[in-house]
Amino acid sequence: MRRGLGLCAAGRRVRGIVNWLGKRDNVTPEAAARLEEFFERFADGSRPLLLLDYDGTLAPFRVDRFQARPWAGMRELLGQIQRQGRTRMAVITGRPAAEIAPMLGLNPPLEVWGLHGAERLYPDGRRELEQAPEATQAKLEELREFLKRDSLGGLFEDKANGVVMHWRGASRQKAEQIERRTRELFEPLARMEGLALLDFEAGLELRVGRNKGGAVEAILAETAKDAPVAYLGDDLTDEAAFRAVQRVGRGGLSVLVRREWRHTAADLWLRPPPELKRFLERWYFASS
Ligand SMILES: [Mg+2]
Repeated sequence: MRRGLGLCAAGRRVRGIVNWLGKRDNVTPEAAARLEEFFERFADGSRPLLLLDYDGTLAPFRVDRFQARPWAGMRELLGQIQRQGRTRMAVITGRPAAEIAPMLGLNPPLEVWGLHGAERLYPDGRRELEQAPEATQAKLEELREFLKRDSLGGLFEDKANGVVMHWRGASRQKAEQIERRTRELFEPLARMEGLALLDFEAGLELRVGRNKGGAVEAILAETAKDAPVAYLGDDLTDEAAFRAVQRVGRGGLSVLVRREWRHTAADLWLRPPPELKRFLERWYFASS
């Protein structure tokens, strides 16, 4: 059986198990060394960057997404790191950015990049949104109206920068049927200027604007070159962000947060919530 807190870069299997900090976690020697190396970079007084996905990473999935509260203890830990005043934190989510602050309950709220990066919401309330050309917007609007009348058997979500079809929770046969009909509808439109498809687990999005990798790059462009940066996420949409963080070099750490392992570009794999909590505790102590 694969164990959590393993090194799983580029699909390599988790290898060997050692104890980490004498606690219950199991960690491969490679993962332990990588973590050690990463947190050593905090010693020189740099300002680390902590980039976090929300659903599936800080909070368990709920079919009703407004019920997806953070894992127990997560809010307190993030609050502690926030109060240290050293780490720059941001959430990068597929949701509209405004949904995160009430769910996370931090004061002041964190900077949030919503709609997979197409939207930026600053802690002071300023908001930026990427727009598509007018002809593309008109096509999207047509599709919205269609999906409001016929949601293809799935759950239609209307977003400021696109349309989303979800099939989470459907039987396998039903999910395949919804996916096929969704692709027939979305794929021809994805060839239009400014539109792109975004695959995620149990759904497909047709959208305008940068993806999570683009959001990470935009944040990194505003950050000191030597600052350690970590990105934590669970979904296929987080893979672009993992790769963006890896382009930084050894100071960049990409972490897959997920109960079950899957093929990923990430450097490390943590199982939530216990391993994620211990990772954040270590972050807190490293920046003390
Ligand atoms: Mg997620």
